[in-house]
Amino acid sequence: MENEKYHLECFECGKVVADRYTNTCPKGHDSLLRTVYSRKRIRKLSGHGMFNYIDWLPVEAALPTNASPITYRSEGLGRELGLKHLYISFSGYWPEKGAFMKTCTFKELEALPTLQRAKEKSGGKILVVASAGNTSRAFAGVSSATGMPVVAVVPRSSLHRMWTTTENHDSIFLISVDGDYSDAIAVGKQIAKLDGLIEEGGVRNVARRDGMGVVELEAAFSMHELPDYYFQAVGSGTGAISAWETFGRLIGDGRFGVKMPRIVIAQNLPFAPMVSAWQAGRAEIIADKDMKDAEDAIKEIYADVLSTRNPPYSIKGGVYDMLSSTNGMMYGITNDEAKDAEKLFVGEEGIDLDPAASVAVASLIKAVDDGSVKKEDKILLNITGGGYKRLKEDCELHAIEARMELQPSEQLALDDVEKELEEFVKGFIG
Ligand SMILES: *Cc1c(COP(=O)(O)O)cnc(C)c1O
Ligand SMILES: [Zn+2]
Repeated sequence: MENEKYHLECFECGKVVADRYTNTCPKGHDSLLRTVYSRKRIRKLSGHGMFNYIDWLPVEAALPTNASPITYRSEGLGRELGLKHLYISFSGYWPEKGAFMKTCTFKELEALPTLQRAKEKSGGKILVVASAGNTSRAFAGVSSATGMPVVAVVPRSSLHRMWTTTENHDSIFLISVDGDYSDAIAVGKQIAKLDGLIEEGGVRNVARRDGMGVVELEAAFSMHELPDYYFQAVGSGTGAISAWETFGRLIGDGRFGVKMPRIVIAQNLPFAPMVSAWQAGRAEIIADKDMKDAEDAIKEIYADVLSTRNPPYSIKGGVYDMLSSTNGMMYGITNDEAKDAEKLFVGEEGIDLDPAASVAVASLIKAVDDGSVKKEDKILLNITGGGYKRLKEDCELHAIEARMELQPSEQLALDDVEKELEEFVKGFIG
């Protein structure tokens, strides 16, 4: 293992694992695996988008892309909030600032290295991705741009989120499920058992987390130091776990400071299971207490991509551990607070936002109002998505057509699915 670029390690037991698209501890622990890179001082290369930070991505080769988050120092919003050192990280489409992510959210940072890792480490299997929309669109967008195949499973109500700026959808096998997000996930799990396919892995997939970690890497190179506070809106919390892990690596690097930033995350009320559990001081989510009337609550929220019912809150190395070890905080944000924050942001900064990003802006406003952050503090605000309107000025959006519509039955009739998928798989891996 001497010349290896990285290996995986279980948070719980420390077991070292060579990466074969491995997403769980071989000893069966309910723990995340994390990547340990042999290079401790990260280089910033040039000309490869997010792969400029390939030293800390679990892939051997870069994909051709210009997608990368950007960081800039805010003037307008910073002045409005009385913050002297407000830095904005933006993931989305905003060419005037150098942001070219045409799927418009930071999920693209997950999709790029995940598809590459699957190609390198899974023996050429095809990824199955189930999501409520932004994740599947990101994977579809990268698939269409690179020709790397993907099977995407989304609830029918999320089909409107499935588009790309490219016309060719041959590499995307889109399945629509007549049910909700959880039904889509269940169907995805079934399908991934078929020959030639593999489950993408969600929060357990180190390529997703380290991919999102590029937000913090880009911010550190731009700010030349770590922030005091990091703000983000969360559904699963995967992005904030990534931030914690990446800040830890940057502290290990030595050039960006030694103090772990405080991580502040926000959910959209009335559906905020992690806010409820955290404020009760619990390391577990209790459905009866933290997710009462979940179905109705999810229908009400403005930022419906934040509606994850099974977030990685209690798992070793997950959200609870992250909040505990960064002296973190959580806010619940109402729809009105999110919409007011959005207006302020759009007016001051000049780009349209994903509703989830508006929730993050609102949480920063709350933290200023309640005195948690001070004028002099260095703040990194993660704008996780935006630029949809801006993108439409430059590009035509092509809706992806579902190749199949499935019912979320207990025992999915896999035989029917199998045939069509077999053809698709053969077309790519023979
Ligand atoms: C998915 C998503 C989030 C939440 O990210 P998690 O990692 O699931 O917590 C926030 N903002 C946008 C725009 C997203 O698409
Ligand atoms: Zn273990």
